[in-house]
Amino acid sequence: DLPGPAKPQTTIFTVMSALAQRHGAVNLGQGFPDESGPEHVVEAAVAAMRDGRNQYPPMPGVPELREAIAAHQRDWYGLAPSPEDGVVVTAGATEAIAASMLAFVRPGDEVVAMEPFYDSYKAAVELAGGTIVPWRLDAPGFRPDLARLGGLVTERTRVLLLNTPHNPTGTVLDRAELEAVARLAVERDLLVVTDEVYEHLVFAGSRHEPVAGLPGMWDRTLSIGSAGKTFSVTGWKIGWATGPAALVDRVKGVKQYLTFASGTPFQYGIAAALGSGREFYDGFVADYAERRDLLTAGLAALGFTVYEPQGTYFVTTSAAPLGYEDGMAFCLGLPERCGVVAIPNQVFYADPAAARPEVRFTFCKPRAVLEEGLERLRKGL
Ligand code: PMP
Ligand code: GLN
Repeated sequence: DLPGPAKPQTTIFTVMSALAQRHGAVNLGQGFPDESGPEHVVEAAVAAMRDGRNQYPPMPGVPELREAIAAHQRDWYGLAPSPEDGVVVTAGATEAIAASMLAFVRPGDEVVAMEPFYDSYKAAVELAGGTIVPWRLDAPGFRPDLARLGGLVTERTRVLLLNTPHNPTGTVLDRAELEAVARLAVERDLLVVTDEVYEHLVFAGSRHEPVAGLPGMWDRTLSIGSAGKTFSVTGWKIGWATGPAALVDRVKGVKQYLTFASGTPFQYGIAAALGSGREFYDGFVADYAERRDLLTAGLAALGFTVYEPQGTYFVTTSAAPLGYEDGMAFCLGLPERCGVVAIPNQVFYADPAAARPEVRFTFCKPRAVLEEGLERLRKGL
């Protein structure tokens, strides 16, 4: 018998991307773009490699990147993390999430998180010996029920884990919702960890606001970001956490023994990327708005119920109108039947075995790929 969990789980992304390969399917499951990031970003990483920047970076990240992250927080949101001790660069947002849970959560503690939640949240909380307490977002609006939040907080609650823009529903918390969350966090003296990796993927009509900027929140908030989404370089795995030195220090204390540090040349690439002008960010979101419209209109025409996302590059749908109450069964059969891959939202719930009709599709693909995916669904459904 091997030590460890009786049945190690494989993430849904690994399962579905393997199915996509096996069936030559159009992969609208795992969220990674087909195109590489902007040329000047790739060039900056290549130049760093050629300049011999190929050894360990400082544990908290290269100074140029920490400066760029702090400047980005200041220019976009008026926040002022110290580049010296208020920023830590991580191996993707995934490491920032795991390190912060391991830093703040003790065995027996509870972490309240918006459900459905990105799959690594529950795993990270459980690695730390804690329990995740779901704060449910329900169809059709997927708005958080603020009246319920207070009741979920107990004397064992250590962290409120937020995600806005939200994967998989596309919900972007608005000012009033953030204010209510902040009031409660202050009242109940909660630590807030906020995953904002889709901060630059927010569509017209909504606005991303970091909860760290609300009254009383700076000292109790750790904000998590990632370059993978904004600069279309998910494989570089450059993420970060920012906040007051006291919180960032605790995260560094764990992170130094997880990876110590990673991706020196990529860190230089992202330092250059974060300095991209507003035109880059505006063009990025405009491009994605078009892809969203193409995919959501196509899926609606096929009979799915479509829940318009306010942000991210995902759309949650319901396959119930097509006769499927079980999204997992629907998604497992889809590659063979239609040559398309999608993600069943039920894997993002505290009870991943309970069947749900919601299915997530990504639109971080070129128009031709989205059109091909829709065409295959049209023929095979
Ligand atoms: N948080 C959310 C909400 C995500 O969707 C993802 C990636 N899909 C991550 C974190 C992980 O980011 P990274 O690739 O930078 O580790
Ligand atoms: N964040 C990506 C998604 O939600 C996948 C990341 C992963 O493969 N672990 O699709």
